[in-house]
Amino acid sequence: MGTTVVWLRDDLRVADNPALYEAARRGGQTAVLFVFDESSDIRPLGGAARWWMHYSLQSLDAQLREIGGRLILRRGVAVDVVKQLIVETGAKAVLWNRRYGLHERNADSGLKDWSRDNGIDAQSFQANLLFEPWQVQTGQGENYKVFTPFWRACLAQPEPREPVPAPSSLKAVKMAGTEKSDHLDTWALLPTSPDWAGGLRSEWTPGEPGAHRRLTEFFDERLIGYSEGRERPSQESTSRLSPHLRFGEVSPFQIWHAARTSRTVGIDDEIQTFGAEIGWREFCWHLLYHNPRLATESYRREFDAFAWEHDTAEEVRAWCRGRTGYPMVDAGMRQLWETGWMHNRVRMITASFLTKNLLVDWRAGEQWFWDTLVDADAANNPANWQWVAGSGADAAPYFRIFNPVTQSIKFDSAGRYLRRFLPELTGLDDAAIHRPWTDSKRAPDYPEPIVDLAESRQRALAAYAKVKNRG
Ligand code: FAD
Repeated sequence: MGTTVVWLRDDLRVADNPALYEAARRGGQTAVLFVFDESSDIRPLGGAARWWMHYSLQSLDAQLREIGGRLILRRGVAVDVVKQLIVETGAKAVLWNRRYGLHERNADSGLKDWSRDNGIDAQSFQANLLFEPWQVQTGQGENYKVFTPFWRACLAQPEPREPVPAPSSLKAVKMAGTEKSDHLDTWALLPTSPDWAGGLRSEWTPGEPGAHRRLTEFFDERLIGYSEGRERPSQESTSRLSPHLRFGEVSPFQIWHAARTSRTVGIDDEIQTFGAEIGWREFCWHLLYHNPRLATESYRREFDAFAWEHDTAEEVRAWCRGRTGYPMVDAGMRQLWETGWMHNRVRMITASFLTKNLLVDWRAGEQWFWDTLVDADAANNPANWQWVAGSGADAAPYFRIFNPVTQSIKFDSAGRYLRRFLPELTGLDDAAIHRPWTDSKRAPDYPEPIVDLAESRQRALAAYAKVKNRG
């Protein structure tokens, strides 16, 4: 049996990894490869995601070694690197799990063509989405543009397959010398001067074991009450699986079947609500597959004519640093900076504030999130930014502008979330903490609001009216 190359990308796990499983089943030597892709058409990772990837790769190598394998690290134009490894090892097969971005797909199909021309068996597997984006179609054979019918159509499909187990053993390819793999440290993925990752280290455990701890903990302890608790940023009610899903340390198939088997009496509604969130992830990838420029172009093309403000550098800086004078916005932006993650409701509030109250182009916010989120995801991030901005598929109507004060009172009435991330407001009582300007003597270090909510709302509605009339 010849050598098989397994090329891992957004699937940094050994369990429910069909490509890896198939390589082990074939029984020859296996070369498990990860490439730090330097192709010019692949979006470079942001800082927080690079931090995550370092530890995720470290953890994956340890997992592989437990079953007799090892991870080969290389950098460069990924497809060229894969071809080179195939030639070096004399491999007869190359296997991978599918990905869905346009450039990524083009790279993969180029490799498939090259393999066919060179007598190499190339095979790809479904591993990272429950429903392939081309598999779910409307009655007219079109892709979906609205979430609810999309998810209904998904749920009418055959049940997603059972997860496949981790291989019990692998035969690592024998190569002369360790120089055949890069040392992870030479990729310089971790921040050094300054090292801003302290908050990330205390919050997260990247890698497959950490992902499974989160999964088990969520189903054992937090699923009950999820529907209600998921709206409260001060509570740890959601799964926090997003970065683990982003890097494929846990698969949606594992989550789906964990949810099915935990069907204890009385939690069907919670499972449905949680399942629909996994459904949103599927929907975002469906959108990206059919609209590859989701991160750069407005989905609703009439938004091309939207009058975004241009002279906003100062406001954007205040927003990024959590110094807008609106506590719910600032707490969210500081949670993001400190921990690499932000609660979903607060993501919506901060994104609405930027795109509507400050009239800043959604692409600027999307890029900041891309740089700072540990779960920065090529589909979820732009799709959600466009959803909030009103330019996206099935988007929130533009005129629904979140009021950060009302939202704060509604979802964090006792100010617990605000106090955690805004220490300069701890002296304020539960009423004033949502509007610090009413008691500014007790919060001298906190900024005045950078924009008036009522006025900026009117300005946003007027800008939108112009787009609507063109649309
Ligand atoms: P849970 O509530 O436990 O949900 C489970 C999983 O469902 C999540 O891990 C995620 O994979 C998926 N999910 C939940 N909500 C959404 C959603 N609205 N859209 C797509 N998938 C969803 N999510 C990302 O994974 N990466 C991003 O880059 C990202 N950027 C966002 C930007 C904005 C402006 C907004 C409003 C939302 C964004 N989201 C993004 C969606 C959502 O905020 C996060 O997925 C969620 O907060 C992650 O926390 P969790 O794992 O505890 O979620």
